[in-house]
Amino acid sequence: MACGRFKMVNFAEIMDRKLLLDALKRYFGFDSFRRGQEGIISHVLSGQDCLVLMPTGGGKSLCYQLPAILMDGLTVVVSPLISLMKDQVDALRASGIPAASLNSSLSDNEQLSVVRDCVSGRVKLLYMSPESVLARMAYLLHDVKLSLFAIDEAHCVSQWGHDFRPEYTQLSRLREEFPEVPMMALTATADKVTRIDMLQHLGLRSPKVFISSFDRPNLSLAVVQGLPKKAKDKMMLAFIKEHQGQSGIVYCLSRKTAESVTHTLAAYGIAALAYHAGLAPEVRNSVQEAFVHDRVQVVCATIAFGMGIDKSNIRWVLHYNMPKSIENFYQEIGRAGRDGLPANTLMFYSYADVVQLSSFAQQSGQRDINKEKLKRMQEYAEATVCRRRILLNYFGESSDRSCHNCDVCHHPPRVFDGTIEVQKALSALMRARETVGFRTLADILRGTYSAEVKLRHYDQLKTFGAGRAIPPRVWNAYLLQMLQMGLVEIAYNEENHLKITHQGREVLFGARTVLLTVVDDEQEWPMANSQPKQRRSRSRELFAILDETNEGAEDKELFEELRMLRHKVADRQGFPPYIVFSDKALHEMARIKPLSVEAFGNVPGVGEFKKQQYGMEFVATIRRFYKK
Ligand code: ADP
Ligand code: MG
Repeated sequence: MACGRFKMVNFAEIMDRKLLLDALKRYFGFDSFRRGQEGIISHVLSGQDCLVLMPTGGGKSLCYQLPAILMDGLTVVVSPLISLMKDQVDALRASGIPAASLNSSLSDNEQLSVVRDCVSGRVKLLYMSPESVLARMAYLLHDVKLSLFAIDEAHCVSQWGHDFRPEYTQLSRLREEFPEVPMMALTATADKVTRIDMLQHLGLRSPKVFISSFDRPNLSLAVVQGLPKKAKDKMMLAFIKEHQGQSGIVYCLSRKTAESVTHTLAAYGIAALAYHAGLAPEVRNSVQEAFVHDRVQVVCATIAFGMGIDKSNIRWVLHYNMPKSIENFYQEIGRAGRDGLPANTLMFYSYADVVQLSSFAQQSGQRDINKEKLKRMQEYAEATVCRRRILLNYFGESSDRSCHNCDVCHHPPRVFDGTIEVQKALSALMRARETVGFRTLADILRGTYSAEVKLRHYDQLKTFGAGRAIPPRVWNAYLLQMLQMGLVEIAYNEENHLKITHQGREVLFGARTVLLTVVDDEQEWPMANSQPKQRRSRSRELFAILDETNEGAEDKELFEELRMLRHKVADRQGFPPYIVFSDKALHEMARIKPLSVEAFGNVPGVGEFKKQQYGMEFVATIRRFYKK
């Protein structure tokens, strides 16, 4: 027999795959698995332990939710925040999957009723805080048949990160008490120290470690350097205008900035709210709710915002200030585009950020580590090669390809001989006796009579106005580049004045030349109006052809109608709109335009339960739309 040429077909394997895909479509409405999901799910179904490292928005929840549905018994999911539990339980119930949570927000009676439902087998997934798991280990968990323990946000076990929760370290008791129940841990934090902590503290039994790529190709990346406040605000408004009606977050370094940016946006008619640690917990909760339910478009927040939400339709993230580390940055931009659709990110990077963050790092407990992290963040901001490559390399994934979805790939930097400009700046600094900061130096170069210039008679300097022909924004960017190249440094102990370095002196006295990067004096954000170019695989090309021939283009007006209907339905049911249907599912509806409930069920993102629940209403809207 010539079977050597062919791979023997494993029918059991095909049946399993078919079963998994059927369940995926029936319960969640999805047509295919995301990268890594299928292997993890098969592993969990085989009853073994594992650790799953996948980026935010990668689709970790499905890796325990689908097994939980398919296995006999109750899956216990440990989650650190009540809002995260609520979000997932709502999403599961909206798909007709029996889920519940046990936490301190429930009354005794409510808790009792949940316990009863678990014991009688009416619940498939039970979400618990680590405290309630430990408290109920002795009875509840022994009274029910358990199928799986899923420890979500498992990095909370590590003291190294910023979300440390001491109760997580006790979860290894689950492994001791229930040796026969498989256990999985999931997180988006992939650094080595955290990984070792998770393996040690959770007591997983020879776990298989699944590491997905941390790439999020649907997120566009852009950085704009050296904008003064007015120009920043202008660009921010233009950026948000391009995302009309779409949810987004503006991250700020301080509470004060979060408040002032909120006011700026409100003044331009953009619905925005501030969120930071200085607000009362009730206020913070109501801001979060308003955002999740699409009642406010923008939240201006400090880093305190975001961990507790799984909102899938955040279409953009803007960093008004540079964050303190790449970890923080990646986590924050990762909150956009969880549904896999394109989402845009933009970061402003200024000299003031460097000064402020350096002083934070200087005062912090782990000074050297934090300074190093800041340095790496700056390297990202100043990149002249593909930004995604820098991010991926930082997370230990080597990438040698350009992404075509960042500003550097779109507009490769151009350089010119900037020796004369640099000499002008250094000479002005020298004449001002190295006792000025960035702003005043720029004022001297531009010939601007600012208060400090007048007070200290800098207008008498020979170099006053020597760089008048160059706009302020461009000077700011050149000065920042000089700092990056080590031609000047900031004396943090002398009111942040600038000092000329040895290298700087060499340039000033003509011993070496300098290349500067061209700075365009434009006010558009660098990825404006650019559709992200996807790396096209063969199958994607095939899909594109099928798309064109079968269903035609998306109807934007219909999408807006469906979006309004989603809002109405969500309000009626008390769910956030993205839980009723994701943005992606709405786009598919506006493209496929199903005119019967049966056809509606075939739309990617529509499962069996949602077809029954919402089919008539959505199809009626689509039909009405075409009668107009
Ligand atoms: P994570 O926990 O890894 O941050 P989630 O589990 O919250 O990510 O999933 C992010 C989004 O991706 C959710 O909106 C989810 O519905 C969606 N998703 C997950 N798996 C798939 C899939 N196979 N196909 C389409 N969408 C998916
Ligand atoms: Mg998650």
